[in-house]
Parts: sequence; C-alpha cells; structure tokens
Amino acid sequence: MKMKHKGILIVVSGFSGAGKGTLMKQLVHTYDNYALSVSMTTRAPRPGEEEGKEHFFVSKDVFEDNIQQDGLIEYAQYCDNYYGTPREYVERQLEKGKDVILEIEIQGALKVKEKFPTALLMFVMPPNATELKKRLEGRGTESKEVIAKRLRRASEEAEGIEKYDFIVINDKLEECVRQMHSLIQAAHFTPDRNGEMIDNMRKELEELN
Ligand code: 5GP
Repeated sequence: MKMKHKGILIVVSGFSGAGKGTLMKQLVHTYDNYALSVSMTTRAPRPGEEEGKEHFFVSKDVFEDNIQQDGLIEYAQYCDNYYGTPREYVERQLEKGKDVILEIEIQGALKVKEKFPTALLMFVMPPNATELKKRLEGRGTESKEVIAKRLRRASEEAEGIEKYDFIVINDKLEECVRQMHSLIQAAHFTPDRNGEMIDNMRKELEELN
C-alpha cells in the first residue's frame, strides 16, 4: 500500500531577523516538492523587494476587500501593518501534492492550526538574542524605532513557542535547511496525516475477514 496524499501545510515562524526568509528560499531551492506562499501586506516594500516575490504589497482598502471576500486563509496585524495568506495558491498547490510553506507570525500560525489541524508548525530561533539584534541591525533596512518594535514583539512571540511542533536553530544555514527538510519528511508519516491510507487498510482487512 502506497502512502499517497495531498501535500502538507508547513507553518514557519520566528523572530524578525532570525533568517526565515533566507532559510525558506534555500529550502525551496534545494529540494523539490515545496511551494512557498507569498503573503499580502500593507507594509511598504523594502529596498530591493519586488511585487509578488517577497510579498504582494497592497493598500489597506485592497487588503480589507480580500478579508471580506474570504480570499485569505488567515491574516494578522504585525507592528502596525496587515499581513495575510492568499487562499487560492495554497489550496491549488496542496491539491497538486506540494508541501506548502507559510512564513507567518504566531497569531496567524495558531489560526492555521485551528483550521488545518494537520499543519506542521515550526519555530526558527537564532543561536542567541544578541545575534538576533545584530542581524536586524546588519540588514540596514529598518529604522532604529522599527528594530526596537520588532525586538519587543520578539519577546511577546517567545511566550508562544511551546505551541509549535518543532524548533530549529538557524546557526549554520545549510545544516538548518537539512534539519527542517528531515523533520518535514518525518511528518509525512504520522497517522493523522495518513487518514485515507489507514481507512483503506481497515476496509481491506474487513474484506478479508
Ligand atoms: P516582514 O515585514 O519582515 O516581511 O514580516 C513581518 C512578520 O510578518 C514576520 O514575522 C512574518 O513571518 C509575518 N508575516 C509575513 N506574512 C504573513 C502572513 O501572511 N500572515 C501572517 N499572519 N504573518 C505574516
């Protein structure tokens, strides 16, 4: 009997500056079978960010229209801006059997887990807090105030880490990518993600009796 199923939803959160973006790009680049969801946001693009690549950058009105039309799987406010996951792309990719990665903050992550109980929740941590501050400052794309806000938000988010299925430490990029991939592969073999296969096995067994 083959383990055949739709893809799984993988939610990746982590403090701003933990290196999630780079990690996710590397994961998708290294292995087949991942699809990376692109979020919609009311935040302004950072220098070098492109429409539809890092995010879809929209006005507050457009974002609220999307909420009204149920076009988002989840959305949340983060440091004065809206962020949300467009529904259509995610559903299409899951249907195709892809594992879909959502790189979202904690409120959104918990909403996804409610709606999709088999979603896999992973939390990316930097090796230590000083390194986090260094990475945020080193990025050079945010003002001092925004960095301070993001660090405060990191403290709040740290309260919710136990709600995740796994934590991964982003110290060495390649190693972290390999680790995430192995954990995701393992998740494909849990009973709750193989309901259909288990049901079929039970039916076949009954027929034999
Ligand atoms: P950034 O402004 O650095 O791109 O993202 C800020 C935060 O918003 C990050 O923690 C990121 O994971 C989160 N985020 C990005 N897209 C989404 C989304 O679609 N939904 C939610 N809930 N959070 C998101």
